[in-house]
Amino acid sequence: LNRRLAEFGTTIFAEMSALAARTGAINLGQGFPDTDGPEEIREAAVRALRDGRGNQYPPGPGVPELREAIAAHQARRYGLTLDPDTEVLVTAGATEAIAAALLALVEPGDEVVALEPYYDSYAASIALAGGTRVPVTLRPSGGRFRLDLDELRAAVTPRTRLLLINTPHNPTGTVLTRAELAEIARLAVERDLIVVTDEVYEHLVFEEPDGSGGHVPLAGLPGMRDRTLTISSAGKTYSFTGWKVGWITGPPALVTAVRSAKQFLTYVSAGPFQYAIAEALALPDSYYDGLRAELRAKRDLLAGGLADAGFGVHVPAGTYFITTDIRPLGETDGFAFCRALPSRAGVVAIPNAVFYDDREAGAPFVRFAFCKRTEVLEEAVTRLKQLT
Ligand code: PMP
Ligand code: GLN
Repeated sequence: LNRRLAEFGTTIFAEMSALAARTGAINLGQGFPDTDGPEEIREAAVRALRDGRGNQYPPGPGVPELREAIAAHQARRYGLTLDPDTEVLVTAGATEAIAAALLALVEPGDEVVALEPYYDSYAASIALAGGTRVPVTLRPSGGRFRLDLDELRAAVTPRTRLLLINTPHNPTGTVLTRAELAEIARLAVERDLIVVTDEVYEHLVFEEPDGSGGHVPLAGLPGMRDRTLTISSAGKTYSFTGWKVGWITGPPALVTAVRSAKQFLTYVSAGPFQYAIAEALALPDSYYDGLRAELRAKRDLLAGGLADAGFGVHVPAGTYFITTDIRPLGETDGFAFCRALPSRAGVVAIPNAVFYDDREAGAPFVRFAFCKRTEVLEEAVTRLKQLT
């Protein structure tokens, strides 16, 4: 293993899902739904396969039907207009979009400012690109993990190449407010920075921190359209994490750069699934409302159960994760806690420390996923209440 990757080892999600499989514990670790997405979308994939749409290499940027559907979705939901031919690129999940963006834009030695805790692939992709990550830590304050805008400002140096933002935020569940996003935008414009924004949980906003009416895309703020790359994924929005259909949108010059990297990573991603996701993107608002309502109820169930079991609970405004504080249980080491949890309670969770450079800062936090069937969450809660 080369020096760039040596520090990363095996991703925590693989490790913890393997632990769940080995012990038979309930897996609230890796974030994937235990119920597949809409039947009609699965049927659309079958139809594409059967009709021979996408069984051979699709076009590099993605099939036109999907690129048009992505542009139409951004226009309908957010009033953002995109040229499907030059401003939309389909990727193998959001993971490839992140990697391709960083590989395309970062020079060795460039600094990438990212919110900490960060989704684990950010650190690895920054390292692969030869960049240096500069974390800005979200800290619990007033009931949410909060971004300190002065710290963000101070993290930007002449070597900063780009800001890597994530809202709704994995693992904390923070949804950045419109005011916070406006500050980020102001900073980006002032320092002439590119912003890569991971918005894979765009449809999973339960609380609108400042009455903003749902998810606020950073690309829609003043001065941002021409400097922002926005990433999303069908895995999260339509509950098909195994299909690995994601996308990245932005101004032509930036999207072209990302495409240059993407063509040598995967060249293209799975053709038939692209046609199916094009249909998914045209689902009516009632689909998204239903998904959100269902997950909000699950969030409340698990948050209540975890609190009853003695955890400190940070109720998330978005995503399908709850970050807990294990100190009220008399515990301080999330790693040790998560490794022992299958035998102590028959449940698997993720230690947030893996998402921190400052492992000490992350040590007392543990993440539970609630994108699971109600009866599974209820059983998990029953078990966690008997934690020994
Ligand atoms: N970004 C974030 C914040 C995520 O949580 C995830 C998946 N859990 C991804 C990116 C990766 O998405 P995909 O599965 O589409 O590659
Ligand atoms: N993004 C998912 C999570 O945060 C997992 C994705 C993965 O396993 N790479 O749990």
